[in-house]
Amino acid sequence: MYKLAKTCFAVLSLPAFLFAGQALAADAHDAHSSAAAGNEKEQIRAIVKNLVHDNQSFVNANKAAHFAEHIKGQKPRATVVTCSDSRVHTHALDKDPEGDLFMVRDIGNQITTAEGSVEYGVRHLHTPLLLVIGHSACGAVKAAMGDYSSIEAPIKRELDTIKVPGKNADDNKEVMTSVEANVNNQVAFAMEKFAAEVKAGKLAVMGGVYDFRNDYNLGHGKLVITNINGDTDPAKIKAAGILPTK
Ligand SMILES: [Zn+2]
Repeated sequence: MYKLAKTCFAVLSLPAFLFAGQALAADAHDAHSSAAAGNEKEQIRAIVKNLVHDNQSFVNANKAAHFAEHIKGQKPRATVVTCSDSRVHTHALDKDPEGDLFMVRDIGNQITTAEGSVEYGVRHLHTPLLLVIGHSACGAVKAAMGDYSSIEAPIKRELDTIKVPGKNADDNKEVMTSVEANVNNQVAFAMEKFAAEVKAGKLAVMGGVYDFRNDYNLGHGKLVITNINGDTDPAKIKAAGILPTK
């Protein structure tokens, strides 16, 4: 009980720490920046209030039985590599993702920048499916299409591993071609890395695009499967017999 209370305190005290920093900064500036700091404080307070409220609703709605299996351990059915983009979330593809999806997220849904996490899902949790999900309007892919040489070094490092054919980020066709190419690159990497698991029939590697812009004209928010075990030909994807026919 004490431990829980302490954790809660730590979470709630973080904004207090931020506010203290802002207050010090405000002292050294004019009234205008003081007002800006006040607004920021209000903004953070509203965000935290929302998170605490939603978490409490979750606690109220899910009693001990909901977590009984989780406490024993996890047995996810899929390792999912997707983009950190806030517009992409698990509820779009799984009604009950808890304990079901081992999520790995980074900018540009890359395996190389989070390789250990992906390997853990495949080789330690033994998920039979590795799913790489790109998405429409991906900022990381768009950035990798242009000159990003002046961006912060850690971000640059994570963009350097995105290899795409597109050059014009204002051309949505080029962006989507590049989003698909990036997914295909990740699948190709996984097929090589996990060749033994795939060959033994223990793992399927799939790639798809979460299309919230409806670029494929299949409905806003559709997860379009574009690659199964390295095959990108729609006829071969269909012939793989993995996708539901209805
Ligand atoms: Zn993205």
